[in-house]
Amino acid sequence: MTSRDPDEVLARLRRLRESDAPTHGGRILSYVYDSGLGVLDRLAADAAELVRPVNGLDPTVFGSVAAMERDLIEFSRSAFGSPDAVGTVTSGGTESCLLAVAAARRTSGLPRGHGNVVAPSTAHAAFDKAAELLGVDLRRVPVDPDSTRPSAADVAAHVDDETFLLVASAPNYPTGTMDPIAEFGELALERGLPLHVDACLGGFALAWWPEPSDPWDLSVPGVTSLSADFHKYGYAPKGASILLHTDRDRHRAGYFATADWPGYPVVNPTLLGSRSATGTAAAWAITQFLGPEGFAGLVGDIAAARTVLLEQVCAIDGLRVVGDPFGPVFAVAADHASARPIDPHRWADEVHARGFTLQAQPRYRQSDGSELAASTHLTITPVTRTVAAELSAAMVDAATAARALPPIDAPGPLRELAAAFESGAVTVEDAVGLDSAATEAVLIGAGIDPHSDPARSEEALDIGAVIAAIDLLPRPVTAKMLIEFLAAFTNPPPAGTGTTVRAR
Ligand SMILES: *Cc1c(COP(=O)(O)O)cnc(C)c1O
Repeated sequence: MTSRDPDEVLARLRRLRESDAPTHGGRILSYVYDSGLGVLDRLAADAAELVRPVNGLDPTVFGSVAAMERDLIEFSRSAFGSPDAVGTVTSGGTESCLLAVAAARRTSGLPRGHGNVVAPSTAHAAFDKAAELLGVDLRRVPVDPDSTRPSAADVAAHVDDETFLLVASAPNYPTGTMDPIAEFGELALERGLPLHVDACLGGFALAWWPEPSDPWDLSVPGVTSLSADFHKYGYAPKGASILLHTDRDRHRAGYFATADWPGYPVVNPTLLGSRSATGTAAAWAITQFLGPEGFAGLVGDIAAARTVLLEQVCAIDGLRVVGDPFGPVFAVAADHASARPIDPHRWADEVHARGFTLQAQPRYRQSDGSELAASTHLTITPVTRTVAAELSAAMVDAATAARALPPIDAPGPLRELAAAFESGAVTVEDAVGLDSAATEAVLIGAGIDPHSDPARSEEALDIGAVIAAIDLLPRPVTAKMLIEFLAAFTNPPPAGTGTTVRAR
C-alpha cells in the first residue's frame, strides 16, 4: 500500500473520510459541536498548524504553550465565576475529571486502595473510569427518576469516613438536568469535602445562557473544582478541556513530578508526557477570536433552536422530555401517560431515516431498584438553528411512523443468552471469563460482526438492536462485549486470513 505520491496518500484518506458521519451541518446531534461558522474552523486549523511541531511537555522550552494556557485559564476562570482560580489545560473531559479525582484523592491523606467518590447516578462514566484506574470506589446516588435530580440528603447518606470527593454535573449528559449545586456545596462545607462540578458538557454554553440558572459554577460556596471542555461548546476540534481549582494546593496535587530517575526532570500537569499543543492552540485561537460576546451570540442560537425542538417534542403524543433539562442538551423518552407511547429508539431510528442522527441511551437501573427510562439524547449546537424546522418536521413524521411499530428487539441469539442468564444456565462470571475469541464468536453469532464494513449500508451496525441487547444483558457482560467489538473493529484480521479489506 506504500505510495511515493503524497497526493495519492491524501486522496486515500479523503476516501476513508467519506464513510464518516457528517461533522458539519447539524445532521448529527451528538459527538460534534458545530458553531456553523466556517471562519472558526479555519482559524482553529491554522492555529493548530502553527504549533504542530511543538511539544507541550515542556512549556519552559516552548513558551507559546505557557502563554496560551495562561490565556485559557484567565478566560475560563472569569467565565466560571472565580477570578482567582488556578488550573490546567487537558486533552479532554475524561482527563479533566480523572485529574480532579486524583488530586482530591492525593490531598485526602487516605492510604492507597482506600477512598470513595460520591456522585449522582447521572454523573458521566468518566468518573467510573477514574475510580477504576485509581483503585477507589464510585458510589452512584439514585436520582429522582422523574426530575432526574439527586437530593443532597441522599448524597449525604452515601458519604462515609472514606469519602474524599463529591461530584455534581452542570448539566449531566444523559438528561441535561442540572444537579442542585448550591445544596451540594452546603453539604461539602459541612463535611469538609471537596466538590467537583463537571461542566465538561455545558460549561461553555451555560456561562452565557440567556435565561437565569440556579448557581452552578466556582462562585458557589463549597465548589472546589470545575471541568469544562473546549472541544464541546468551545467549538474547538477534539483535544482541549480545562480543569480549574479554587485551591492552589489541591491543583498542585494533580501534578506528577520526579527527578528520581536518570533522565530529564519530569513534571506533568496531566496524564500525558509528550503532548500535542494543537488542541490548546485551536481552543486559544477560538477564545481570542470570539471573546465572551461571540460566545454569547452562539449560545443565543443554541437556546433558540432548543426552544423550537423542545416544544415540538412536547407536542408529540407518546413522547416526553426526560427530567428537567436546562441548557443545550435534553433527552426524549416514551410517554406512558399517553394511550400511545412511542419507543424512543424506534423514534430515533425513524428520525435517522429522515436524515438526522440522534443518540440512543439504554434504560438504567439505579442502586435502589428504580429506573431511568430508555431515552434518545439530543445535543443542540448553534448550527442546529439552521436545520431546526426540517428536524422538527422529521421528528413529527418519525413519531407517526414509530407509533405503528413495536420496540426494537435485541438479536435472537442475544435474547437467548439473556434468558440463559435469567435461568441461571449461564452465570455472569462464566460470560466475563470467556476469552476474546469466544466473545467475538458470541457477537458474530448475534449478527453484530466487528469485521463488517460500516460504509456499506447493508452491513451497517443496527444501533437500536445493540442498545436493546445492552438492555437485556448483565452490564459486566455488555462491557466485555463492547470491548471485544471495538478491539476487533479497529484491528486488522489475523495475518494471512485476508478476510476483510476495509481501506479501499
Ligand atoms: C463529554 C463529557 C465528559 C467526558 O469528556 P470527553 O471529552 O469525552 O473525554 C465528562 N462529563 C460530561 C458531563 C461530558 O458530557
